[in-house]
Amino acid sequence: MTMNEFDLIDRFFKNQPITRNDVALGIGDDGALICVPPFCQLVVTTDTLVAGNHFLPNACPAKIAHKALAANLSDLAAMGATPAWCSLALTLPKADPQWLSEFCRGFYALAKQYQVQLIGGDTTKGPLSITITLQGYVAQGKAITRRGAAVGDLIYVTGLLGDSGAGLELILKQNKSYNQLEQKLIDRHYYATPRIEAGKILSELASACLDISDGLLVDLEHILKANQVGAMINADALPLSCSLLHYAKSAENGAKIALSSGEEYELCFTVPKRHRQALNDAFSTLNTPITCIGQIQSKQGIDLMWQANAVSWPVLGWDHFLS
Ligand code: ADP
Ligand code: MG
Repeated sequence: MTMNEFDLIDRFFKNQPITRNDVALGIGDDGALICVPPFCQLVVTTDTLVAGNHFLPNACPAKIAHKALAANLSDLAAMGATPAWCSLALTLPKADPQWLSEFCRGFYALAKQYQVQLIGGDTTKGPLSITITLQGYVAQGKAITRRGAAVGDLIYVTGLLGDSGAGLELILKQNKSYNQLEQKLIDRHYYATPRIEAGKILSELASACLDISDGLLVDLEHILKANQVGAMINADALPLSCSLLHYAKSAENGAKIALSSGEEYELCFTVPKRHRQALNDAFSTLNTPITCIGQIQSKQGIDLMWQANAVSWPVLGWDHFLS
């Protein structure tokens, strides 16, 4: 980009806190050299965040970094993979050292938690945008995909749903200040917890899995279409936080937010009934709650239930080309 592109790379990216033994050559050459663990498949995912579209241009850089890396980690979690290496393509309006050091603080903090090493990237000048390509590995044949859900399988989600969506609504209001409860929802929007450990457990037990990035119902449709099945969803079983219930003012409104909220980065997965006990046993040792919210059925589409009655709520998810 500018004259100081190389200074910038040297200062912020070349010497970095996470170094893995399987990186034979990291930042500084034309490409990185990686030793993929034997008997494993490489899993690769990319996600872009664009200023004004995925975050407000004046948002805290550390939060943007966390969100960008967490979105990629969540994709690997959904595949049951172990994250390991990433590259970072940054487009910046200007080389602002303060912005970059804040960005790096958020980025490396999360990278460190999952032992992800930055192995390369690209730095260009233009409207602010962040693209991360994350790579990880999974034992040969053990990845969980969207294919595999069968009629009768139970549908689960990890964590709590809707907080991120409520947080986004609050962020977009651009208030000068927020109360404690509102701040909690906003933080949940920026600081998703990638469900890596849950994904690893699920690689042994789930029939299909994905992460919720566009909204539960929209994303669940991908699993349903891939398997030519339908689903019955008990909206009253959705796991909602106290903060969300307070914000939404009723359980019904809370459930509607949870059904449509994107960027939740929780996992939605299906499990054959015979694995139910093993699933509960495996998750009892993990600090991640799971909730059964419905079942796969042969009738196509989604039957939404509220307290045992069929409802037809107009719930939309997120589509970048419609919004
Ligand atoms: P090239 O011109 O060969 O593509 P660059 O001059 O763009 O290489 O980058 C020099 C080195 O710095 C490369 O190893 C590249 O992967 C790395 N790099 C550039 N930008 C970033 C970034 N934003 N984050 C991490 N590494 C970067
Ligand atoms: Mg380049």
